[in-house]
Amino acid sequence: MQEKILVTRSSMPSLDEYVHEIESLWDSHWLTNMGAKHELLREELKKYLKVDAIDLLTNGHMALELVLQILNMPKGGEVITTPFTFASTTHAIVRNGLVPVFCDINPDTYTIDASKIESLITDNTVAIVPVHVYGNICDIEKIDEIAKRHHLKVVYDAAHAFGETYNDRGIGSFGDASIFSFHATKVFNTIEGGAVCTKDKALIDKMFVVKDFGILDQERVTEVGPNAKMNEFCAAMGLCNLRHLDEEIEKRKKVVGKYRNLLSSIPGIKICNIQDGVKSNYSYLPIVVDEKIYGKTRDDLYEYLDENGVGARKYFYPLTCDFECFDNQFNCYELPVARFISERVLTLPLYADLPVETVEMICRLIGDFS
Ligand SMILES: *Cc1c(COP(=O)(O)O)cnc(C)c1O
Repeated sequence: MQEKILVTRSSMPSLDEYVHEIESLWDSHWLTNMGAKHELLREELKKYLKVDAIDLLTNGHMALELVLQILNMPKGGEVITTPFTFASTTHAIVRNGLVPVFCDINPDTYTIDASKIESLITDNTVAIVPVHVYGNICDIEKIDEIAKRHHLKVVYDAAHAFGETYNDRGIGSFGDASIFSFHATKVFNTIEGGAVCTKDKALIDKMFVVKDFGILDQERVTEVGPNAKMNEFCAAMGLCNLRHLDEEIEKRKKVVGKYRNLLSSIPGIKICNIQDGVKSNYSYLPIVVDEKIYGKTRDDLYEYLDENGVGARKYFYPLTCDFECFDNQFNCYELPVARFISERVLTLPLYADLPVETVEMICRLIGDFS
């Protein structure tokens, strides 16, 4: 019996390369608290991501939660966002005492439908938190224009968009801030890790303090913050992975090309196109199953692939607004597109070293099952 094909597989450097990278830690005995690796990775990522300022954190979630804390929005303020995302986005809003207001998504990019944002703005609206879903980017110009006109903050959840550019600008350079995730399953990983990027250098200075319990110096604690610092072993993993990243993305591109080629001839299976002006990172391969044409539902296909040793993922399903923990306390009625996509989307296995034959086998299964 063949081993199950998982939806993703973490990129790793050779063991030798990693051991070489961490060797200096046995001399310095400096394991965390913004050490040499942390600072070097920060420099390198600033260049790679084409951003003005960046700080590194334990994970992407803390980056988002703490940016929202630092922007200091009044408790109970409304934040326009989408429910078609990972739990983290909505949780970061709620854990800051803010109220998520769910906007529907665009049927082609699965990102926030910018044409529906304005009707959701009230006197209590304080911010917009859009998500660059699967590396598809939001309608940045329109969101920017709306935010300026209504004096709202914009924080992008760019967890899926690491390394992408839009019209040659780093994707992390838009809005008031953007956050990235360096979780093991993402295109670029530091095992666990994340970052915040912004033009606002003062925000980064504050993040440096907030992520370390708000400790400014030995005698002054100026913020109420958690511990969300990236340690040296994670930063070292990042330094290694960054050296191979362009190559990894090239390999992903080939895998995605193969999928596109083979899936495009299967009726009822939709794949989204790469947007104009976007340099993609090929992070995910979502398909949307139209059961009326395909003849089987997404859930049928999910089960069938699973029985055949292929681990696809219903990502994102359910919508975050439907999570039990929210107990229907947030308004989530007008979300026809998000509901439609969430009930039909399936992300297929995708990672740099996924063999072509495996892609062919998966596509054959999908084709035969209809
Ligand atoms: C992965 C992810 C996060 C959270 O990142 P972590 O590093 O796992 O904390 C947030 N938002 C989205 C859309 C993600 O995919």
